Amino acid sequence: MKNRIGVMGGTFDPIHYGHLVLAEQVRSELSLDRIIFVPAGIPPHKKELSISNNIHRHFMTVLATIDNPNFIVSDIEVHAQKVSYTIDTLHRLKELYGNDHSIFFITGADAILDIESWKDSKTLLKTFKFIAGTRPGHQNDDLERKISLLKKQYDADIHLLEVPALAISSTDIRNRVGMGKSIKYLIPEAVEQYIYKNRLYERGVSGE
Ligand code: ATP
Ligand code: MG
Repeated sequence: MKNRIGVMGGTFDPIHYGHLVLAEQVRSELSLDRIIFVPAGIPPHKKELSISNNIHRHFMTVLATIDNPNFIVSDIEVHAQKVSYTIDTLHRLKELYGNDHSIFFITGADAILDIESWKDSKTLLKTFKFIAGTRPGHQNDDLERKISLLKKQYDADIHLLEVPALAISSTDIRNRVGMGKSIKYLIPEAVEQYIYKNRLYERGVSGE
C-alpha cells in the first residue's frame, strides 16, 4: 500500500494549537503516515505585510512539533530564494517522495474558500488531493457549497473534515503579544518562550 503523507502549509507566524489540532485530526481520520509542515517562504498573499523572518517561523514550527514522531518540518520553502507557490512545492515533494507515496494537502476553511486565487489553481485542484478542515469564523454551509462547486468545475478531490473548533489565529496571537496580553494555552509553551526570548511581535519590533 502507498505511504500516505499530509502536507500542511502555512505562514505559521506563529504556529498555534489550531494548526496542530487540524493536522493531528487529519492524520488520524485519514490514516496518514506522517504530516509535513511547510512554513511558507515569502508567502505570495502576504508579501506586503511584515512577517517574521523565515528562520524564526521555521524554528517555532520545529519546537511545536518536536514531541510528535508523525510530524516533520520541511525547509523547502523557507530556504528558497524566491516566492514559493503551493503548486511548485507539492510537485517538488511528489518528485522527492516518488510514486509509492500519496500526497494530501491540508487546508483550513479560509484557504479552500480562497483557493481559486492561488497560482495555477486549476492544475493544483486537478492534480492533488485536498483535505479541508472546518474553522471558526467560516460557515460550514459556505464551505460545503464551495467544495461541491470545485468538485464540479475542476473534478477536484476534496475531503471535508470537521475538526474541534479552536478560534485561534496567528494574527490574534501577534496582537495579544503586542498588547501585553496572555497567550498561554493558545500555543505550545516552547513556542511561547521562543517568542518572548526573541522579542517577536512586540509593538514596534519587527521580529527580524
Ligand atoms: P494569520 O492570522 O497570520 O493568517 P492563521 O492563524 O490563519 O494566521 P496560517 O498560517 O495563515 O494561520 O494558516 C495555515 C493553515 O492553517 C491554513 O490552511 C488555515 O486555514 C489553517 N488554520 C489556521 N488556524 C486554524 C484554526 N484555528 N482552525 C482550523 N484551521 C486553521
Ligand atoms: Mg491565515
